[in-house]
Amino acid sequence: MRLDKFLSHTGFGSRKEVKELLKKKQVTVNGVLAKDGKFNINEFEDEVAVSDEVVIYKKFAYYMLNKPKGVVSATEDNLHRTVLDLISAQDRLPGLFPVGRLDKNTTGLLLITNDGDLSHQLLSPKKKVPKLYEAKIAGIMTEEDILSFSKGITISGNEECLPANLVILSTDELANSSKIQLEIVEGKFHQVKRMVEAVGKKVVELNRLSMGGLILDDSLKKGNYRELSKEELEELL
Ligand code: URA
Repeated sequence: MRLDKFLSHTGFGSRKEVKELLKKKQVTVNGVLAKDGKFNINEFEDEVAVSDEVVIYKKFAYYMLNKPKGVVSATEDNLHRTVLDLISAQDRLPGLFPVGRLDKNTTGLLLITNDGDLSHQLLSPKKKVPKLYEAKIAGIMTEEDILSFSKGITISGNEECLPANLVILSTDELANSSKIQLEIVEGKFHQVKRMVEAVGKKVVELNRLSMGGLILDDSLKKGNYRELSKEELEELL
């Protein structure tokens, strides 16, 4: 791999920024000063250092983001901030993208990676990866809704959903509201909102708690992210 690409892929910025770094004589390869980004290195064997700190090459990055409201699950958008804007410049490796989409006002667990194979595994309809949501609902969810969801309901008139597990956490008759958890194994567009609409109620707030074996770290504040631990990654791969 070219040295400038290596540095760019390990969080040292754009090609232009990398060029600056090389010009400032801050990069060495196997202890020898490197001035030319076009120079080819073996990313697994050569020791590259920036300002005397050895740079470890990782092919893939895996971040758990606690998505806040108001940002879109996209890599770029002309109007809104995207989930990638929440990743700091040094962690924003080329090719990062969110695994699946959460609506602009949905919060919670979102995996950000550049590992296309893992993303495919998690999103493939065949894999039926469970996604657990908690939601605040306008309206009172009922035992009948639990039964309907468990059998698989039809949304928007003609789309069949696979059986889903609904748990009613609480209801408040006075406020006409409910709190629920819902586990679905598909990823249809606005699925949770449309399922709740199909039984005559409305999602007011939606937060994702888990996706497959990956559970949202409750110490992660909204808008913050961290790298997956080795254990979390092993659970997913
Ligand atoms: N279902 C929805 O309706 N919205 C989301 O963001 C995720 C699942």
